[in-house]
Amino acid sequence: MQMYQHVAASGFDRCCFAETQQIAASEAAQKRWTTSDFDIGKPLGRGKFGHVYLAREKRSDHIVALKVLFKAQLQQSQVEHQLRREVEIQSHLRHPNILRLYGYFYDQKRVYLILEYAVRGELYKELQKCKYFSERRAATYVASLARALIYCHGKHVIHRDIKPENLLIGAQGELKIADFGWSVHTFNRRRTMCGTLDYLPPEMVESVEHDASVDIWSLGILCYEFLYGVPPFEAREHSETYKRIVQVDLKFPPKPIVSSSAKDLISQMLVKESTQRLALHKLLEHPWIVQNADPSGLYRG
Ligand code: AMP
Repeated sequence: MQMYQHVAASGFDRCCFAETQQIAASEAAQKRWTTSDFDIGKPLGRGKFGHVYLAREKRSDHIVALKVLFKAQLQQSQVEHQLRREVEIQSHLRHPNILRLYGYFYDQKRVYLILEYAVRGELYKELQKCKYFSERRAATYVASLARALIYCHGKHVIHRDIKPENLLIGAQGELKIADFGWSVHTFNRRRTMCGTLDYLPPEMVESVEHDASVDIWSLGILCYEFLYGVPPFEAREHSETYKRIVQVDLKFPPKPIVSSSAKDLISQMLVKESTQRLALHKLLEHPWIVQNADPSGLYRG
C-alpha cells in the first residue's frame, strides 16, 4: 500500500519507539519493524477491521498492544485515508491521557499499529458495570480529558469523536483517549459530518462549519453519560435524537441524584452557539471540578 510507505519512508515510526528502546538513531532510521520483533500474546479485543493483541517487543521487553488491521477490509470500507491521518496525528501526540502510538508497520495483507497497552481496558465496560459513576470519579475523568483536549487543541488537533467507547484506562486508573480515527489536524473550520450520533453537536448535525468547540460539546455529553448512565438526547429514532440535539432539549432526570453544580457545568458545555460553550481552561476552574476532581487525574476506585 503506497500510502503507508510514504510515512514509513520518513522513518518516524521506528524513531518514536526508539525513545523507549534506546536504539541508536542511525539504526532506528534504517530498520523497520516486523512481526518477528514481537512475542505475540493473548488477544485483548476485536475491532471492526482486525484484532488487538498483547505483545512484547523482544529487544526492550516493552509490553505493548499490537493492533492488526486487514488491508482488504480497510480498502473495502475506504478508510485507508482515515487510518493514515490517525497514525500521523496520534504518533505525534505526547500526553498522559492520550494513548501513545509508538509506530506501525505492514506486510502484504495487514497493517500493524504498535500502541501503548492500557492495562485496565475499556472505560465503556466499566460504565456498563457501574451503570453510572460517582461525581468524584466523573469529575476526575472530565478534568483529565479537558487537559488532554487543551493539549490537542493547542496543536490544532480536533478529536471530534469523544465517547466512552474511545476511552481506555491505564494502570494507575488514568483515562487514555484511544481512537483518533475521526480526528483532524486543522487551521480552518470544517464541515465534514463525523462522530457518533448521540455525541454530535448541533453544528455537525446541521452540517454547518465546526471547529475545536465540538470537543467541548462532546465532553459535556460524556459528563452527562458518566453521571446518568445514558447520553442526554437519546431517543428511539435517529431523527428524534437529531431534533433533540438541535433544540438542546436537555433534561436532568430526578434519579440518580446529581448535584446542581454538576448540572450547571453540563448546561454551560451543552450550548448551541459554539462560541458560548465554556472554554476548557475555565472548565478546570469550575467549582464542581475543583471540589470533586482528584488533582492527580487518577481514579483509584
Ligand atoms: P479497537 O479495534 O481499537 O476497537 O480495539 C478492540 C478492542 O481491543 C478494544 O475494545 C479494547 O478492548 C482492546 N484494545 C484496543 N487497544 C488496546 C490497548 N491499547 N490496550 C488495551 N486494550 C486495547
